[in-house]
Order: sequence, then C-alpha cells, then structure tokens
Amino acid sequence: MHTPRTSGRPDRAPDALFGLDELSTEPRIPSHAGPLFRDSEQARRMLSVREIHAEPAAAASPRGEQILARFPDADVFPISSHWRIPELHGNKGNAERWVRIKSTVLVLGEKKTLTVRPNGRSADWIAPGAANGCAMACAYCYVPRRKGYANPITVFTNIDRIIARLTRHVADQGPKSAPNQCDPSAWVYDIGENNDCSVDALISENTADLVRAFARWHTAKASFATKFVNPDLLLLEPRARTRIRFSLMPPDDSRLLDIRTSPVEQRIAAAGDFVEAGYEVHFNLSPVVIRPGWEQAWAQLLQHMDDVLPRTVKEQAAAEVIMLTHNRDLHDVNMAWHPRAEDAIWRPDLQQAKRSENGSWNVRYRNTTKAAAVETVRRLVRTHAPWLPIRYAF
Ligand code: SF4
Repeated sequence: MHTPRTSGRPDRAPDALFGLDELSTEPRIPSHAGPLFRDSEQARRMLSVREIHAEPAAAASPRGEQILARFPDADVFPISSHWRIPELHGNKGNAERWVRIKSTVLVLGEKKTLTVRPNGRSADWIAPGAANGCAMACAYCYVPRRKGYANPITVFTNIDRIIARLTRHVADQGPKSAPNQCDPSAWVYDIGENNDCSVDALISENTADLVRAFARWHTAKASFATKFVNPDLLLLEPRARTRIRFSLMPPDDSRLLDIRTSPVEQRIAAAGDFVEAGYEVHFNLSPVVIRPGWEQAWAQLLQHMDDVLPRTVKEQAAAEVIMLTHNRDLHDVNMAWHPRAEDAIWRPDLQQAKRSENGSWNVRYRNTTKAAAVETVRRLVRTHAPWLPIRYAF
C-alpha cells in the first residue's frame, strides 16, 4: 500500500523570497560526518575539472566565485554565451573526446529564461533547471540533442533568481486542491530535466539550495531522477519535500548502456539511507529496452528489489515506467563508438520514427509492441514487487 509521507499542510503559504544571503557556501555537515564524498577519489573519477568556460557575469556572481574557488587549478576562459562554445558543443565524431570533455570541462552561465512549464506526467511542473548537461554518457540520452554530444555540465550561477521564480510560482498555485498521480497533496516540480542533480552536487551547492528551499515550502515538492549515488546529499535536510527517483534497469542492460553511472545495485542499496535522511525515494523503471530475455531480466531486478529493500522504502515508494526512445542522429553517432549498444536499442523491426519539432527523427517502439511491453512490466511488478505502485507508464 502506498503511504504518502508528507502532510501537505496546505494552510501555510510559501516563505518569502529565498535571498542570496541564504545560499549555501558549504554543505551543512553534522559533527559525526567524515570527509565529503565530493572530495573523494571516486568523485574525482566522475569529475576532475581542469577547464572552466564562464560568462563574465556568472564568474563574478557569488555562486560563480564559490565554484571557481572550488577548482583553483582549472584554467578559466571567458565566453559570451554558454550556448555558443563551438569547440565544445556539437562534436559528433569522437566519443572518447566527449567523455574527456564531460569529466574535465565545466561551463558557468546565467539562466536567462526562468520558465516554469506544466508537465503532468512525472511532475506537475518542470522547474527552470539549475544546470544543463551531464558528466555521464548513457547511450540513449536525450539531453545532448540540443547542445551537441560533447555536452559538459553548464552550471547556472543565478540560483537565487531560479529559487525566487519558484517561490513566486509555488505561492501563486496555493494548495493542491485534488490528488493526482504526481502526488496526493503536493505540487511536484521536476528540478532535473536536463541534468543529474546528484552529480551537480559534486560541483556546487545549487542542488543543496533547491532541497533547502523546498524543505520550507509546505505545498510543493522537488523531484529529480538520478543514476548517480552521491552520499553528500544525505547531509541535507529535505524534510520529505524532495523526491529522489533512482533510475533502474537490469544490471546487464545498465552495464551496456548507462556509461559512467553508479551500478544499479548501488542505487538500490542507497535507497534506505536516502529515506532515512528524509527524502522520498521513488524508482524510474527506465528505459525499458526490449531485447531477447528482457522479461526475465526485469523479473530478476524486481525480485532483487523485493529481497533487499527495507520496509521503510517499500512503504513510500512508487514507480514510473518509461519505454526506450531513441534518435536517428544519436544512433549514427553511437555506431562509431559503441555499436554493441545499438544492437540493443536500435530495433527497426520493433520501432517507428517520428519527426520531432527540431526536425530530427525520434524513434520509439511501435504502438502495439509498446502497449504489450508496458502490460508485461505492470504484470512483473504486480508479481515480484506488489508493494510498488506504478504512477504512470508510457
Ligand atoms: S545520467 Fe541522465 S542526463 Fe546523464 S547521460 Fe545518462 S540519461 Fe543523460
């Protein structure tokens, strides 16, 4: 049975603007805490910043200064816009180079358009992102489609304006009047549409500031999907107002497709700690990849979750199920560096193409194939993890 962990407390308005003086300079570290994960060797393997491309205003901002101080040995290059760095973006040809760029280069910019967009699937609203780009390199990732494949993390340093925009939006909505599949009582804001907030927390306090802001708003909840376990997030105090969605797929699929991410077993093992720290923990069963033996692999994954997850996780968990989508341009790129991944995710015998708004061809499973596969996943969840409600599947 799914038991919401939050009260909603709809009678209270959101707090006043979240001012610059309230932004974090350091994580709040309990006295028993040891060294920060972000300073560990493991974190350095994910991200070892040597080059920072910065808009002047972003570099001069309080958040920008904090980030520059955190990476004192990095070379800093001024840029006119975080959108236009030809030597970084759009590089299709050399995957080794993109991974090097993603793990050693950082971009600092200011987010100009602070739009809160309606969603209705995973979240009620998509928040203006505090970052764009990712240090990981999943073979199916849609994030690089706009900026290019070697898309390093761009951190938006005007986090104060992003949080101020959210403050106003939360206030304008008032209490949620009716439950929906996003949440029974809180307006849910996705804060990680084009980034992974757990990795972003290795760089700056943007994720921490968002978690802290939502902890003070009693009608709203932050939500982000992640494929990376960052124990530093356990030091924050989310007070059940941040939903972390660990993305899961069978470990064999993940080893083939989820390049540079935390192992699936580690993501599952972390769930109990995150609930204990005050997060709501959900699971994204995604992307579901249809390949020989996929049903058995998903059954084993769900069985493993049932075996190892503590009751505290099961009581509050819910899932999203998302079938694989792919892209023709990305397929061509992947063929040059990771053709084995394409054996699994490029299946013209099962997929159909649809031209997207930007003119590229997106690919998804044919309607009947997809409907049957979604039904199979629902059945597997009912059988092996009956405690896991599916919020939506598509
Ligand atoms: S973790 Fe998410 S954002 Fe990062 S490469 Fe993988 S799919 Fe893309």
